[in-house]
Amino acid sequence: MNPIGNKEKQLRKLPGVDRLLESIREEPAYSETPKSVLVEAIRSVIEKTRARILQAETSDNEIDTGLLLSAVRRKITGAMKPNLKKIINATGVVVHTNLGRSLLAEEAMERVREVATGYSNLEFDLEKGRRGLRYSHIENILCEISGAESAMVVNNNAAAVLLCLETMASGKEVIVSRGELVEIGGSFRIPDVMAKSGCILKEVGTTNRTHPKDYEEAIHENTGLLLKVHTSNFAITGFTSDVSLPEMVKIGRRHNLPVMEDLGSGMFIDFSRYGLTREPTVQDSIHAGTDIVTFSGDKLLGGPQAGIIVGKKEIMENIRKNPLTRALRIDKMTLAALEGTLRLYRDPKTAVRNIPTLRMITDSYEQIRQKADQLAGMLEEQKDSRLTLDRKKIFSKTGGGALPLLDLPSAGLGIRIQGMTADGIEKALRKNDPAIIGRIEDDLFILDLRTVQHDEFSMIADALRLILAQSGK
Ligand SMILES: *Cc1c(COP(=O)(O)O)cnc(C)c1O
Repeated sequence: MNPIGNKEKQLRKLPGVDRLLESIREEPAYSETPKSVLVEAIRSVIEKTRARILQAETSDNEIDTGLLLSAVRRKITGAMKPNLKKIINATGVVVHTNLGRSLLAEEAMERVREVATGYSNLEFDLEKGRRGLRYSHIENILCEISGAESAMVVNNNAAAVLLCLETMASGKEVIVSRGELVEIGGSFRIPDVMAKSGCILKEVGTTNRTHPKDYEEAIHENTGLLLKVHTSNFAITGFTSDVSLPEMVKIGRRHNLPVMEDLGSGMFIDFSRYGLTREPTVQDSIHAGTDIVTFSGDKLLGGPQAGIIVGKKEIMENIRKNPLTRALRIDKMTLAALEGTLRLYRDPKTAVRNIPTLRMITDSYEQIRQKADQLAGMLEEQKDSRLTLDRKKIFSKTGGGALPLLDLPSAGLGIRIQGMTADGIEKALRKNDPAIIGRIEDDLFILDLRTVQHDEFSMIADALRLILAQSGK
């Protein structure tokens, strides 16, 4: 047959938008669906089919109204689902930046619900009956926990660093050790932030060793600040030496210069009590006399995305007055979630029990192994000989650019399905609703139970049942 003539014939056969719209609107399932969604789905299906006809990729029987309508229905279903949605994190990485970092504690969520769905005293002083400050709600609790004189919060830690540098040292030199010029994922690099804040970066020392005299010698009349950056996402080991915060504070005092620390993943709890490596806490930094300390709300702290600033009152007043503060300000939902989270820190035991991030990091291997057994039991109920489970002792990471050297012993469940590769299983689970994200080690797809919640077990079982049913065809 003449292919050109066939194309024309097929194009003529293709129904118009109006005709498909009429059919789909008669279906009760779509009676409430906005017309714009229906039209968009139909248009996209027709356009795709038209393109395939022009590429001579279609056969005559594909241009069937029934088939086109099924494609339209699938499109509509996809369009009606939110894009940002729940997934199951079976990677074992607790603070996973790509998967939403920290899970909020129930207590924090309750605060958000109350404050977001009703009016609040966000910027109203109930004592005095006049305008108040939005930061006042968390300042006291932050000072109480950290021991700082003063505190405030902005959108995230990157913003906190930018704001503090701009306030304290714009146009001046900021001295940083070469070993601390870090890049954090998502292209946050200390030298770039420094440039944006109008400060001049003055690197001292070498990658592996920096000494007090390196700072001393770099100080001159245009020096504005000494900055310490917590190298939270990597570690330099071997022949190393860095200048401790107390030493830096001493140098700062001697030259009348403020000292700032970007702690990155700040925390209030000494993890060494739970058998983990000791990370510097916010209290350590304040105790050392650091003038300004910044850290994230949603890394190891386990709260909402926020950049927390604690430190000296005098400097904080200047930070508050900086017009950038308005551009970087946090909203009431974040404030509510942060207050709810911070209140849990008044009792470290409650914090570790109720803040999901802390709970998952401190869960013992034995606790996680029990979870793996429970899930394995549920999956074995399916009694499908094509499914093989492989209990594995593995290691998880805290993530969030924190504790880079720490391997947390964890329990994993390796999943094999006859006729499927590890990549195939990974893809099928990733395309499930909700998506299940695991990892592949030595050609085995593994679910790391550290970050899987109990109420997700049945969703994983359903997903595997579906995959087995589909692969059986
Ligand atoms: C993560 C991190 C930041 C950025 O914090 P965000 O809250 O992600 O903006 C800045 N500095 C250090 C050292 C970090 O680890």
